[in-house]
Amino acid sequence: MPTFAADSEVHVAREAIGPFERISLSRPGTNFPRAPQLAVYRVGDTLFDTGSSLTADALVRAIADRPPRRVLCTHQHEDHVGGVGPLRRAYGHIPAYVPRPHVSLLTTFDRVPGYRAAYWGNPEPIGDAIAYDAGDVFEVDGVRVGTIESPGHTPGHVAFIVNDGRQSFALTGDLYTSSPTIAWYESSAPCLLQSCRRLSGIASQLTMLPTHGRVRADGRQALGRLACKVAPLCEEIERVAAAEGLGTAPTGPDYWRIADLVLGPSEDEAVASEGEWSHACFVRSVLQPVRQLPATTIPYQ
Ligand SMILES: [Zn+2]
Repeated sequence: MPTFAADSEVHVAREAIGPFERISLSRPGTNFPRAPQLAVYRVGDTLFDTGSSLTADALVRAIADRPPRRVLCTHQHEDHVGGVGPLRRAYGHIPAYVPRPHVSLLTTFDRVPGYRAAYWGNPEPIGDAIAYDAGDVFEVDGVRVGTIESPGHTPGHVAFIVNDGRQSFALTGDLYTSSPTIAWYESSAPCLLQSCRRLSGIASQLTMLPTHGRVRADGRQALGRLACKVAPLCEEIERVAAAEGLGTAPTGPDYWRIADLVLGPSEDEAVASEGEWSHACFVRSVLQPVRQLPATTIPYQ
């Protein structure tokens, strides 16, 4: 279970990157598994993702110089949409755009498991999110912002793309991870590989703006490295699953068995995350990729 300093102080770091301002919000008073950090981005009075309910007060203060008039979200998780309610209380009823598959999920999204509630805070339902589709284009303060489907972390995930004439920027939400084998339970490895290739194909010079972690000026190469790490593991998992005689309907214990054989133990993460993050989730993301929500967790067996 995460632990936090009593004051749960939020540190704010700002940076200009092309047309975007990056506002990184972190809470150093925790040690599990690392201090929570997320970044939201803005262009003019449009905000890209909103952070979590536990970072919302700091965000409200940080953007008071130009309150948002619209928010565009990459996906439905609480560390991306959790700021919508607090932002609306501070600045009025701001329209919130989310990917179409996530609109209905948000109408009842008011609770997450305990470890996530401690890490990011519980979300508030959003009953009137506006659907957008990958491929839609937003005009944002004179900047053309494209959208591109980027599932892998979760079905329906969308990335935002901007080209300023010299280079491209990809606001990638949670698509990119430096540790893909501890996978989220809504993952699809084939979709992750496709999304990496799709995004790295949009420009030779791509700056990647993720929600968590640092900006990657070598975004194309970073996505390529992620794909190079995941692709051979997918082949190995399929090979071992076939050798072990896994049927067409594997279950939780099967995923854990293959995970132990190919990737080694990750039960700590699985137990702490109530089955939401683990090697077993990565194995399932290869053998039975999640392509529709909701997905089931894989508790440690
Ligand atoms: Zn996410």
